[in-house]
Amino acid sequence: NRLRVFRKLKIQDEKVILALNESNKNLVKETDKFRKLSTVDALTQSYNRFGIDQIVSTLITPVKDVAVDEPPFSLILLDIDHFKRVNDTRGHDTGDRVLKNMAKIINGSLREGDYIGRWGGEEFVIILPFTRHEFAMALAEKIRISVSHSSFEPENPLLITVSVGVGSLLSDESFADLFKRVDEALYRAKERGRNCCIVAEPQFVDYLGAKF
Ligand code: GH3
Ligand code: MG
Ligand code: MG
Repeated sequence: NRLRVFRKLKIQDEKVILALNESNKNLVKETDKFRKLSTVDALTQSYNRFGIDQIVSTLITPVKDVAVDEPPFSLILLDIDHFKRVNDTRGHDTGDRVLKNMAKIINGSLREGDYIGRWGGEEFVIILPFTRHEFAMALAEKIRISVSHSSFEPENPLLITVSVGVGSLLSDESFADLFKRVDEALYRAKERGRNCCIVAEPQFVDYLGAKF
């Protein structure tokens, strides 16, 4: 009799385990969905800040015992020129379409393994793993030209340009410090008259070779 009760309980347990497995699978799916939602920008389907931060932290982890002569990654920062005017003259929906198309154009120029993100408003970041700043600059120029030749809003054409800052991570540099340098380069590109790319100099160059 006891044995029968035991068997019954066992069958019951197996059912419970099966049900738990099933609900666990669903939870994993849900988690994947929310993980994606938390790292991707809904408007442009590119990464958001959080997504880019996560990518950067995986790239910054030092690779030991490997002779590398490439930086962990290069950073390109692009800011749409006079974007406020687009919103003011054509409305916010047109502005949103321009942002979506911008992400498409940038994506069209990237290699597999490169990452694009929307950093906020009308500013995009590109992360190019194991890429020197010379190559990053060539790619930035290609994107800049491609944007300026693209027909945004073909029904009622709109000329769009971007200003760009470029740089690559120095050894022992944090992402925040690289970002600051590249943002300064972008600022200089705006000052120079927009629709151009500028490479950020390593800081020590500004100090005439004085290392510290
Ligand atoms: P600059 O050439 O100096 O970069 O000028 P700008 O007008 O592009 O820069 P500013 O920072 O003055 O304006 C950015 C504008 O971007 C202001 C804001 O309304 C608009 N913007 C930010 N996020 C969005 C968005 O998600 N959709 C739309 N349509 N507009 C946005
Ligand atoms: Mg801006
Ligand atoms: Mg702008």
